[in-house]
Amino acid sequence: MSRDKQQTVSELLTSKSIDADKADFSDIVKALKMADSKKEYPQWVCSDCGNKHGNKKCVIATWHIGSCDVCGKEQVKVTEPRDFGHLKDGWE
Ligand SMILES: [Zn+2]
Repeated sequence: MSRDKQQTVSELLTSKSIDADKADFSDIVKALKMADSKKEYPQWVCSDCGNKHGNKKCVIATWHIGSCDVCGKEQVKVTEPRDFGHLKDGWE
């Protein structure tokens, strides 16, 4: 289990007020599944998603044709989330 995933699982258990040491096996499985379905922070983002979820308007960016990690569109102009001042929580 990666360190990130381990942290996500313990956060999920904590958020449900479950003590990780006393957690039910099914609670841990549930938490693991949620950790698995949690999307990785996108590497590439299209302008639509960047404008929607970014912290600022994109001024300078190096665009290339690729697929957007947020909406999954392919063959669109994408750039790094950094160019939008990174994405706000809830970009998923
Ligand atoms: Zn997109």
